Amino acid sequence: MATGWGSLLQDEQQLEELARQAVDRALAEGVLLRTSQAPSSSDVVSYAPFTLFPSRVPSALLEQAYAVQADFNLLVDAVSQNAVFLEQTLSSTIKRDSFTARLFDIHKQVLKEGIAQTVFLGLNRSDYMFQCNPDGSTALKQIEINTISASFGGLASRTPAVHRHVLSILGKTKEAAKILSNNPSKGLAMGIAKAWELYGSVNAQVLLIAQEKERNIFDQRVIENELLARNIHVIRRRFEDVSEKGSLDQDRRLFMDGQEVAVVYFRDGYMPSHYSLQNWEARLLLERSCAVKCPDIATQLAGTKKVQQELSRVGVLESLLPGQPQAVARLRATFAGLYSLDLGEEGDQAITKAIAAPSCFVLKPQREGGGNNLYGEEMVQALGRLKDSEERASYILMEKIEPEPFRNCLLRPGSPARVVQCISELGIFGVYVREGKTLVMNKHVGHLLRTKAIEHADGGVAAGVAVLDNPYPV
Ligand code: ADP
Ligand code: MG
Repeated sequence: MATGWGSLLQDEQQLEELARQAVDRALAEGVLLRTSQAPSSSDVVSYAPFTLFPSRVPSALLEQAYAVQADFNLLVDAVSQNAVFLEQTLSSTIKRDSFTARLFDIHKQVLKEGIAQTVFLGLNRSDYMFQCNPDGSTALKQIEINTISASFGGLASRTPAVHRHVLSILGKTKEAAKILSNNPSKGLAMGIAKAWELYGSVNAQVLLIAQEKERNIFDQRVIENELLARNIHVIRRRFEDVSEKGSLDQDRRLFMDGQEVAVVYFRDGYMPSHYSLQNWEARLLLERSCAVKCPDIATQLAGTKKVQQELSRVGVLESLLPGQPQAVARLRATFAGLYSLDLGEEGDQAITKAIAAPSCFVLKPQREGGGNNLYGEEMVQALGRLKDSEERASYILMEKIEPEPFRNCLLRPGSPARVVQCISELGIFGVYVREGKTLVMNKHVGHLLRTKAIEHADGGVAAGVAVLDNPYPV
Protein backbone atom coordinates (compact mmCIF):
# COMPACT_ATOMS: atom_id res chain seq x y z
CA MET A 1 0.00 0.00 0.00
CA ALA A 2 1.83 3.09 -1.20
CA THR A 3 0.72 6.27 0.50
CA GLY A 4 -0.90 7.90 -2.51
CA TRP A 5 -0.50 11.41 -1.11
CA GLY A 6 3.31 11.34 -1.39
CA SER A 7 4.15 14.72 -2.92
CA LEU A 8 1.40 16.50 -0.96
CA LEU A 9 2.98 15.34 2.28
CA GLN A 10 6.27 17.03 1.40
CA ASP A 11 5.05 20.59 0.94
CA GLU A 12 5.14 21.89 4.50
CA GLN A 13 3.58 25.25 3.79
CA GLN A 14 0.68 23.74 1.89
CA LEU A 15 0.18 21.17 4.66
CA GLU A 16 -0.09 23.89 7.28
CA GLU A 17 -2.70 25.79 5.30
CA LEU A 18 -4.64 22.59 4.55
CA ALA A 19 -4.47 21.63 8.22
CA ARG A 20 -5.96 24.95 9.27
CA GLN A 21 -8.85 24.52 6.87
CA ALA A 22 -9.36 20.88 7.82
CA VAL A 23 -9.49 21.74 11.52
CA ASP A 24 -12.07 24.46 10.93
CA ARG A 25 -14.19 22.08 8.91
CA ALA A 26 -13.87 19.38 11.60
CA LEU A 27 -15.06 21.84 14.23
CA ALA A 28 -17.95 22.94 12.01
CA GLU A 29 -18.96 19.31 11.40
CA GLY A 30 -18.95 18.46 15.10
CA VAL A 31 -15.85 16.24 15.20
CA LEU A 32 -15.47 17.25 18.83
CA LEU A 33 -14.08 16.13 22.16
CA ARG A 34 -14.15 17.79 25.51
CA THR A 35 -10.70 18.76 26.72
CA SER A 36 -8.60 16.77 29.17
CA GLN A 37 -8.47 19.90 31.36
CA ALA A 38 -12.27 20.08 31.69
CA PRO A 39 -13.66 16.62 30.84
CA SER A 40 -17.02 17.28 32.54
CA SER A 41 -17.75 20.54 30.78
CA SER A 42 -18.77 21.51 27.26
CA ASP A 43 -17.90 25.19 27.79
CA VAL A 44 -14.62 24.89 25.96
CA VAL A 45 -14.19 21.98 23.56
CA SER A 46 -11.79 21.07 20.79
CA TYR A 47 -11.64 18.86 17.72
CA ALA A 48 -11.04 15.14 17.99
CA PRO A 49 -7.61 14.32 16.51
CA PHE A 50 -7.73 13.16 12.89
CA THR A 51 -5.58 12.53 9.83
CA LEU A 52 -5.27 15.26 7.23
CA PHE A 53 -5.80 12.72 4.44
CA PRO A 54 -7.85 9.53 4.25
CA SER A 55 -5.71 6.37 4.34
CA ARG A 56 -5.66 3.71 1.66
CA VAL A 57 -7.53 0.52 2.46
CA PRO A 58 -7.83 -2.38 0.01
CA SER A 59 -11.49 -2.51 -1.12
CA ALA A 60 -11.49 -6.28 -0.93
CA LEU A 61 -10.55 -6.21 2.77
CA LEU A 62 -13.15 -3.56 3.52
CA GLU A 63 -15.77 -5.70 1.81
CA GLN A 64 -14.59 -8.80 3.64
CA ALA A 65 -14.88 -6.99 7.00
CA TYR A 66 -18.41 -5.90 6.17
CA ALA A 67 -19.36 -9.37 4.92
CA VAL A 68 -18.28 -11.12 8.14
CA GLN A 69 -19.98 -8.69 10.53
CA ALA A 70 -23.36 -10.45 10.65
CA ASP A 71 -21.45 -13.67 11.42
CA PHE A 72 -19.66 -11.99 14.33
CA ASN A 73 -23.00 -10.71 15.62
CA LEU A 74 -24.38 -14.26 15.52
CA LEU A 75 -21.28 -15.61 17.21
CA VAL A 76 -21.32 -13.11 20.08
CA ASP A 77 -25.02 -13.77 20.57
CA ALA A 78 -24.43 -17.53 20.58
CA VAL A 79 -21.60 -17.27 23.13
CA SER A 80 -23.67 -15.05 25.39
CA GLN A 81 -26.42 -17.69 25.51
CA ASN A 82 -24.04 -20.56 26.17
CA ALA A 83 -23.50 -20.60 29.93
CA VAL A 84 -21.52 -23.85 29.80
CA PHE A 85 -19.07 -22.47 27.24
CA LEU A 86 -18.60 -19.24 29.19
CA GLU A 87 -18.02 -21.10 32.44
CA GLN A 88 -15.51 -23.53 30.94
CA THR A 89 -13.70 -20.82 29.03
CA LEU A 90 -13.38 -18.38 31.88
CA SER A 91 -12.84 -20.83 34.76
CA SER A 92 -9.04 -20.48 34.87
CA THR A 93 -9.12 -16.73 34.19
CA ILE A 94 -11.56 -15.84 36.96
CA LYS A 95 -9.36 -17.55 39.53
CA ARG A 96 -6.75 -14.83 39.00
CA ASP A 97 -8.51 -11.87 37.41
CA SER A 98 -10.76 -10.22 39.95
CA PHE A 99 -12.50 -7.92 37.45
CA THR A 100 -13.61 -10.75 35.17
CA ALA A 101 -14.48 -12.75 38.28
CA ARG A 102 -16.77 -9.99 39.49
CA LEU A 103 -18.56 -9.78 36.14
CA PHE A 104 -18.85 -13.56 36.13
CA ASP A 105 -20.31 -13.49 39.61
CA ILE A 106 -23.11 -11.21 38.48
CA HIS A 107 -23.67 -13.45 35.46
CA LYS A 108 -24.08 -16.45 37.79
CA GLN A 109 -26.43 -14.59 40.10
CA VAL A 110 -28.65 -13.53 37.20
CA LEU A 111 -28.72 -17.08 35.82
CA LYS A 112 -29.63 -18.46 39.22
CA GLU A 113 -32.51 -16.06 39.69
CA GLY A 114 -33.60 -16.46 36.06
CA ILE A 115 -33.01 -13.98 33.26
CA ALA A 116 -35.83 -11.43 33.32
CA GLN A 117 -35.15 -9.71 30.02
CA THR A 118 -36.70 -11.19 26.88
CA VAL A 119 -35.27 -8.77 24.33
CA PHE A 120 -31.50 -8.68 23.69
CA LEU A 121 -29.56 -5.95 21.96
CA GLY A 122 -25.97 -6.12 20.73
CA LEU A 123 -24.10 -3.05 19.52
CA ASN A 124 -20.55 -4.13 18.84
CA ARG A 125 -17.48 -3.17 16.85
CA SER A 126 -15.10 -5.70 15.40
CA ASP A 127 -11.60 -4.28 14.90
CA TYR A 128 -9.04 -5.40 12.33
CA MET A 129 -5.59 -4.67 11.01
CA PHE A 130 -4.28 -5.47 7.55
CA GLN A 131 -1.56 -8.08 7.88
CA CYS A 132 1.14 -7.65 5.26
CA ASN A 133 2.31 -11.09 4.12
CA PRO A 134 5.87 -11.85 2.92
CA ASP A 135 4.56 -12.19 -0.67
CA GLY A 136 3.22 -8.62 -0.53
CA SER A 137 -0.45 -9.64 -0.24
CA THR A 138 -2.58 -8.28 2.60
CA ALA A 139 -5.00 -10.11 4.86
CA LEU A 140 -7.75 -8.94 7.20
CA LYS A 141 -6.95 -10.00 10.77
CA GLN A 142 -9.20 -9.35 13.74
CA ILE A 143 -7.65 -7.53 16.70
CA GLU A 144 -10.66 -7.88 18.99
CA ILE A 145 -14.40 -7.41 19.19
CA ASN A 146 -15.84 -4.77 21.51
CA THR A 147 -19.18 -5.79 22.96
CA ILE A 148 -19.51 -2.95 25.46
CA SER A 149 -19.35 0.77 24.92
CA ALA A 150 -18.05 0.50 21.33
CA SER A 151 -17.39 4.13 20.57
CA PHE A 152 -16.81 6.65 17.75
CA GLY A 153 -19.87 5.63 15.71
CA GLY A 154 -21.08 9.20 16.13
CA LEU A 155 -17.92 11.09 15.21
CA ALA A 156 -17.18 8.64 12.36
CA SER A 157 -20.29 9.94 10.60
CA ARG A 158 -18.83 13.46 10.62
CA THR A 159 -15.30 12.84 9.33
CA PRO A 160 -16.05 11.98 5.66
CA ALA A 161 -17.08 15.60 5.07
CA VAL A 162 -13.72 16.78 6.43
CA HIS A 163 -11.63 14.59 4.12
CA ARG A 164 -13.83 15.43 1.12
CA HIS A 165 -13.25 19.07 1.99
CA VAL A 166 -9.45 18.67 2.05
CA LEU A 167 -9.40 16.83 -1.27
CA SER A 168 -11.77 19.37 -2.84
CA ILE A 169 -9.46 22.23 -1.85
CA LEU A 170 -6.74 20.40 -3.78
CA GLY A 171 -9.04 20.07 -6.80
CA LYS A 172 -9.18 16.32 -6.30
CA THR A 173 -12.90 15.99 -6.97
CA LYS A 174 -12.71 12.41 -8.20
CA GLU A 175 -10.76 11.34 -5.13
CA ALA A 176 -13.15 13.23 -2.83
CA ALA A 177 -16.07 11.30 -4.33
CA LYS A 178 -14.40 8.01 -3.41
CA ILE A 179 -14.69 8.66 0.32
CA LEU A 180 -17.52 6.51 1.54
CA SER A 181 -20.46 7.97 3.37
CA ASN A 182 -20.74 6.46 6.79
CA ASN A 183 -23.32 6.72 9.53
CA PRO A 184 -22.82 4.08 12.23
CA SER A 185 -24.64 6.07 14.90
CA LYS A 186 -27.84 5.99 12.89
CA GLY A 187 -27.69 2.20 12.76
CA LEU A 188 -26.78 1.96 16.44
CA ALA A 189 -29.77 4.16 17.27
CA MET A 190 -32.00 1.98 15.08
CA GLY A 191 -30.94 -1.04 17.12
CA ILE A 192 -31.74 0.73 20.38
CA ALA A 193 -35.06 1.92 18.92
CA LYS A 194 -35.98 -1.63 17.85
CA ALA A 195 -35.19 -2.99 21.33
CA TRP A 196 -37.18 -0.14 22.90
CA GLU A 197 -40.15 -0.90 20.64
CA LEU A 198 -40.06 -4.63 21.45
CA TYR A 199 -39.90 -3.86 25.14
CA GLY A 200 -43.32 -2.41 24.49
CA SER A 201 -43.98 0.45 26.85
CA VAL A 202 -44.43 3.83 25.12
CA ASN A 203 -43.51 5.88 28.16
CA ALA A 204 -40.37 3.96 29.01
CA GLN A 205 -36.99 5.61 28.44
CA VAL A 206 -33.49 4.70 27.44
CA LEU A 207 -31.00 4.92 30.31
CA LEU A 208 -27.47 5.75 29.15
CA ILE A 209 -24.96 4.83 31.85
CA ALA A 210 -22.41 7.61 31.53
CA GLN A 211 -19.16 8.55 33.17
CA GLU A 212 -18.95 11.78 35.08
CA LYS A 213 -15.84 12.83 33.20
CA GLU A 214 -16.70 12.05 29.60
CA ARG A 215 -14.57 13.67 26.94
CA ASN A 216 -16.33 11.75 24.19
CA ILE A 217 -19.82 13.05 24.94
CA PHE A 218 -20.47 14.42 21.44
CA ASP A 219 -20.05 10.93 20.01
CA GLN A 220 -22.74 9.73 22.40
CA ARG A 221 -24.99 12.71 21.74
CA VAL A 222 -25.27 11.77 18.06
CA ILE A 223 -27.00 8.55 19.11
CA GLU A 224 -29.13 10.34 21.70
CA ASN A 225 -30.23 12.86 19.07
CA GLU A 226 -31.17 10.11 16.62
CA LEU A 227 -33.34 8.52 19.30
CA LEU A 228 -35.01 11.76 20.28
CA ALA A 229 -35.87 12.32 16.62
CA ARG A 230 -37.86 9.08 16.93
CA ASN A 231 -39.49 10.35 20.08
CA ILE A 232 -37.47 8.04 22.31
CA HIS A 233 -36.13 9.86 25.35
CA VAL A 234 -32.66 9.19 26.71
CA ILE A 235 -31.62 9.98 30.26
CA ARG A 236 -27.92 10.05 31.14
CA ARG A 237 -27.10 8.76 34.61
CA ARG A 238 -24.06 7.44 36.46
CA PHE A 239 -23.88 4.15 38.33
CA GLU A 240 -24.00 6.24 41.52
CA ASP A 241 -27.37 7.67 40.45
CA VAL A 242 -28.67 4.15 39.83
CA SER A 243 -27.76 3.05 43.33
CA GLU A 244 -29.45 6.12 44.80
CA LYS A 245 -32.55 6.36 42.64
CA GLY A 246 -32.92 3.11 40.70
CA SER A 247 -35.35 0.39 41.73
CA LEU A 248 -37.10 -2.76 40.56
CA ASP A 249 -40.79 -3.50 41.00
CA GLN A 250 -42.07 -7.04 41.72
CA ASP A 251 -41.96 -7.88 37.99
CA ARG A 252 -38.33 -6.69 37.95
CA ARG A 253 -39.22 -3.70 35.80
CA LEU A 254 -36.52 -1.06 36.19
CA PHE A 255 -37.37 2.46 37.34
CA MET A 256 -35.05 5.44 37.44
CA ASP A 257 -36.28 8.59 39.19
CA GLY A 258 -39.74 7.00 39.06
CA GLN A 259 -39.61 6.55 35.24
CA GLU A 260 -39.67 3.11 33.64
CA VAL A 261 -36.55 2.13 31.69
CA ALA A 262 -36.83 0.02 28.53
CA VAL A 263 -33.16 -0.08 27.47
CA VAL A 264 -29.93 0.38 29.44
CA TYR A 265 -27.06 1.45 27.18
CA PHE A 266 -23.63 1.21 28.85
CA ARG A 267 -20.98 3.78 27.95
CA ASP A 268 -19.29 2.96 31.24
CA GLY A 269 -18.53 -0.17 33.22
CA TYR A 270 -15.86 -1.87 31.10
CA MET A 271 -12.83 -1.20 33.35
CA PRO A 272 -12.09 -2.02 36.99
CA SER A 273 -11.70 1.70 37.76
CA HIS A 274 -15.34 2.26 36.74
CA TYR A 275 -16.57 0.31 39.75
CA SER A 276 -16.78 1.12 43.40
CA LEU A 277 -18.57 -1.35 45.68
CA GLN A 278 -21.66 0.78 45.24
CA ASN A 279 -21.32 0.68 41.45
CA TRP A 280 -21.08 -3.12 41.44
CA GLU A 281 -24.36 -3.21 43.31
CA ALA A 282 -25.91 -0.84 40.79
CA ARG A 283 -24.70 -3.08 37.95
CA LEU A 284 -26.29 -6.09 39.62
CA LEU A 285 -29.58 -4.23 40.01
CA LEU A 286 -29.56 -3.33 36.31
CA GLU A 287 -28.70 -6.89 35.28
CA ARG A 288 -31.49 -8.38 37.39
CA SER A 289 -34.06 -6.14 35.73
CA CYS A 290 -36.16 -7.00 32.68
CA ALA A 291 -34.91 -3.90 30.85
CA VAL A 292 -32.89 -4.62 27.71
CA LYS A 293 -29.23 -4.24 28.64
CA CYS A 294 -26.76 -3.29 25.96
CA PRO A 295 -24.82 -5.36 26.63
CA ASP A 296 -26.16 -7.79 29.19
CA ILE A 297 -23.46 -9.21 31.45
CA ALA A 298 -23.08 -12.44 29.42
CA THR A 299 -22.48 -10.45 26.24
CA GLN A 300 -19.85 -8.36 27.99
CA LEU A 301 -18.11 -11.60 29.01
CA ALA A 302 -18.41 -12.86 25.41
CA GLY A 303 -16.19 -9.92 24.45
CA THR A 304 -13.29 -10.89 26.72
CA LYS A 305 -9.94 -11.71 25.20
CA LYS A 306 -10.00 -15.14 26.81
CA VAL A 307 -13.22 -15.96 24.93
CA GLN A 308 -11.64 -14.66 21.71
CA GLN A 309 -8.70 -17.02 22.22
CA GLU A 310 -10.90 -20.05 22.94
CA LEU A 311 -13.03 -19.33 19.84
CA SER A 312 -9.94 -19.90 17.71
CA ARG A 313 -9.55 -23.51 18.92
CA VAL A 314 -10.28 -26.23 16.39
CA GLY A 315 -13.97 -27.17 16.39
CA VAL A 316 -15.23 -24.44 18.71
CA LEU A 317 -16.84 -22.25 16.03
CA GLU A 318 -18.45 -25.35 14.54
CA SER A 319 -20.02 -26.29 17.85
CA LEU A 320 -21.26 -22.75 18.55
CA LEU A 321 -22.67 -22.21 15.05
CA PRO A 322 -23.85 -25.68 14.01
CA GLY A 323 -24.93 -26.10 10.40
CA GLN A 324 -23.29 -22.85 9.31
CA PRO A 325 -20.01 -23.88 7.67
CA GLN A 326 -19.83 -20.78 5.49
CA ALA A 327 -20.16 -18.41 8.42
CA VAL A 328 -17.53 -20.46 10.26
CA ALA A 329 -15.14 -20.21 7.30
CA ARG A 330 -15.64 -16.44 7.00
CA LEU A 331 -15.02 -15.97 10.71
CA ARG A 332 -11.97 -18.22 10.87
CA ALA A 333 -10.35 -16.46 7.93
CA THR A 334 -10.07 -13.31 10.07
CA PHE A 335 -8.47 -15.00 13.10
CA ALA A 336 -4.83 -14.36 13.90
CA GLY A 337 -2.85 -16.87 15.99
CA LEU A 338 -4.24 -16.93 19.55
CA TYR A 339 -2.71 -18.94 22.39
CA SER A 340 -3.91 -19.94 25.83
CA LEU A 341 -1.51 -19.36 28.72
CA ASP A 342 -3.32 -21.70 31.11
CA LEU A 343 -0.94 -23.82 33.21
CA GLY A 344 0.12 -26.89 31.26
CA GLU A 345 2.12 -27.96 28.27
CA GLU A 346 0.22 -25.93 25.68
CA GLY A 347 0.74 -22.73 27.65
CA ASP A 348 4.41 -23.59 28.30
CA GLN A 349 5.01 -23.99 24.58
CA ALA A 350 3.35 -20.65 23.83
CA ILE A 351 5.56 -18.93 26.40
CA THR A 352 8.72 -20.52 24.97
CA LYS A 353 7.77 -19.38 21.46
CA ALA A 354 7.02 -15.82 22.59
CA ILE A 355 10.27 -15.49 24.54
CA ALA A 356 12.19 -16.76 21.52
CA ALA A 357 10.54 -14.26 19.12
CA PRO A 358 9.17 -11.34 21.14
CA SER A 359 8.51 -9.14 18.10
CA CYS A 360 5.98 -11.66 16.79
CA PHE A 361 3.61 -11.68 19.79
CA VAL A 362 1.43 -9.50 22.01
CA LEU A 363 0.57 -10.36 25.62
CA LYS A 364 -2.96 -9.33 26.56
CA PRO A 365 -4.70 -9.18 29.93
CA GLN A 366 -8.52 -9.18 30.23
CA ARG A 367 -8.83 -5.45 29.88
CA GLU A 368 -10.48 -2.93 27.56
CA GLY A 369 -9.77 0.67 26.70
CA GLY A 370 -6.23 0.54 25.30
CA GLY A 371 -2.76 0.70 26.82
CA ASN A 372 -2.89 -2.62 28.68
CA ASN A 373 -1.05 -4.96 26.33
CA LEU A 374 2.62 -5.84 26.61
CA TYR A 375 5.09 -6.04 23.73
CA GLY A 376 8.75 -6.84 23.13
CA GLU A 377 11.11 -6.76 26.11
CA GLU A 378 8.31 -5.84 28.52
CA MET A 379 6.37 -8.89 27.37
CA VAL A 380 9.40 -11.13 27.84
CA GLN A 381 9.91 -9.87 31.38
CA ALA A 382 6.24 -10.34 32.23
CA LEU A 383 6.25 -13.86 30.82
CA GLY A 384 9.35 -14.67 32.87
CA ARG A 385 7.60 -13.45 35.99
CA LEU A 386 4.28 -15.20 35.21
CA LYS A 387 5.70 -18.48 33.98
CA ASP A 388 5.27 -20.50 37.13
CA SER A 389 2.19 -18.76 38.45
CA GLU A 390 -1.52 -19.44 37.98
CA GLU A 391 -1.80 -15.76 37.23
CA ARG A 392 -0.70 -16.38 33.66
CA ALA A 393 -4.18 -17.78 32.91
CA SER A 394 -5.58 -14.28 33.18
CA TYR A 395 -3.61 -13.36 30.02
CA ILE A 396 -3.66 -14.57 26.46
CA LEU A 397 -0.94 -14.48 23.87
CA MET A 398 -1.65 -13.23 20.35
CA GLU A 399 0.28 -13.21 17.13
CA LYS A 400 1.38 -9.65 16.36
CA ILE A 401 -0.16 -8.28 13.18
CA GLU A 402 2.31 -6.39 10.99
CA PRO A 403 0.63 -3.98 8.60
CA GLU A 404 2.68 -2.12 6.00
CA PRO A 405 3.32 1.40 7.29
CA PHE A 406 2.43 4.42 5.16
CA ARG A 407 2.76 8.16 5.60
CA ASN A 408 -0.02 10.50 6.68
CA CYS A 409 -0.26 13.76 8.58
CA LEU A 410 -1.74 13.66 12.10
CA LEU A 411 -3.63 16.65 13.48
CA ARG A 412 -4.08 17.14 17.21
CA PRO A 413 -5.14 20.17 19.22
CA GLY A 414 -2.12 21.98 20.59
CA SER A 415 0.46 20.17 18.44
CA PRO A 416 1.89 21.09 15.07
CA ALA A 417 0.77 18.94 12.13
CA ARG A 418 3.03 15.88 12.03
CA VAL A 419 3.84 13.75 9.00
CA VAL A 420 4.70 10.28 10.27
CA GLN A 421 4.80 6.61 9.39
CA CYS A 422 1.40 5.18 10.34
CA ILE A 423 -0.70 2.06 10.54
CA SER A 424 -4.50 1.85 10.59
CA GLU A 425 -7.11 -0.21 12.39
CA LEU A 426 -10.51 -0.73 10.79
CA GLY A 427 -13.63 -1.27 12.92
CA ILE A 428 -17.01 -2.43 11.65
CA PHE A 429 -20.09 -1.70 13.73
CA GLY A 430 -22.64 -4.47 14.08
CA VAL A 431 -26.17 -4.43 15.48
CA TYR A 432 -28.44 -7.31 16.39
CA VAL A 433 -31.70 -7.63 18.27
CA ARG A 434 -33.13 -10.90 19.53
CA GLU A 435 -36.57 -11.47 20.99
CA GLY A 436 -36.62 -14.77 22.88
CA LYS A 437 -35.07 -17.19 20.40
CA THR A 438 -35.86 -15.12 17.31
CA LEU A 439 -33.27 -12.84 15.77
CA VAL A 440 -35.21 -9.84 14.49
CA MET A 441 -32.23 -7.72 13.36
CA ASN A 442 -28.68 -8.62 12.37
CA LYS A 443 -26.61 -6.22 10.33
CA HIS A 444 -23.53 -4.05 9.87
CA VAL A 445 -24.12 -0.34 10.20
CA GLY A 446 -20.87 1.41 9.30
CA HIS A 447 -17.16 1.63 9.91
CA LEU A 448 -14.44 3.45 11.82
CA LEU A 449 -10.87 3.86 10.68
CA ARG A 450 -8.31 4.86 13.28
CA THR A 451 -4.69 5.58 12.43
CA LYS A 452 -1.66 5.92 14.66
CA ALA A 453 2.06 6.52 14.38
CA ILE A 454 3.99 3.24 14.26
CA GLU A 455 6.02 4.12 17.35
CA HIS A 456 2.94 3.43 19.49
CA ALA A 457 2.31 -0.27 19.86
CA ASP A 458 -1.00 0.17 21.63
CA GLY A 459 -3.85 2.53 22.34
CA GLY A 460 -6.93 4.06 20.75
CA VAL A 461 -8.24 7.57 20.17
CA ALA A 462 -9.48 7.96 23.73
CA ALA A 463 -6.03 6.94 25.00
CA GLY A 464 -4.54 9.81 22.95
CA VAL A 465 -2.62 7.57 20.56
CA ALA A 466 -4.77 6.92 17.49
CA VAL A 467 -6.64 9.55 15.47
CA LEU A 468 -9.83 9.42 13.41
CA ASP A 469 -9.46 8.63 9.73
CA ASN A 470 -11.44 7.46 6.69
CA PRO A 471 -10.70 4.55 4.40
CA TYR A 472 -9.71 5.54 0.88
CA PRO A 473 -10.70 2.38 -1.00
CA VAL A 474 -8.13 1.15 -3.51
P1 ADP B 1 -8.26 -2.89 23.98
O1 ADP B 1 -9.42 -3.67 24.48
O2 ADP B 1 -7.45 -2.29 25.07
O3 ADP B 1 -8.66 -1.93 22.91
P2 ADP B 1 -6.94 -4.36 21.87
O4 ADP B 1 -6.89 -5.82 21.76
O5 ADP B 1 -7.82 -3.66 20.90
O6 ADP B 1 -7.29 -3.99 23.37
O7 ADP B 1 -5.46 -3.79 21.75
C1 ADP B 1 -5.19 -2.42 21.85
C2 ADP B 1 -4.33 -1.95 20.68
O8 ADP B 1 -3.12 -2.72 20.63
C3 ADP B 1 -4.98 -2.15 19.33
O9 ADP B 1 -5.78 -1.04 18.99
C4 ADP B 1 -3.79 -2.31 18.42
O10 ADP B 1 -3.26 -1.04 18.08
C5 ADP B 1 -2.76 -3.01 19.29
N1 ADP B 1 -2.85 -4.47 19.10
C6 ADP B 1 -3.64 -5.33 19.75
N2 ADP B 1 -3.48 -6.59 19.32
C7 ADP B 1 -2.55 -6.54 18.36
C8 ADP B 1 -1.96 -7.51 17.51
N3 ADP B 1 -2.29 -8.79 17.60
N4 ADP B 1 -1.05 -7.08 16.61
C9 ADP B 1 -0.70 -5.79 16.52
N5 ADP B 1 -1.23 -4.82 17.28
C10 ADP B 1 -2.15 -5.18 18.20
MG1 MG C 1 -9.25 -2.29 21.00
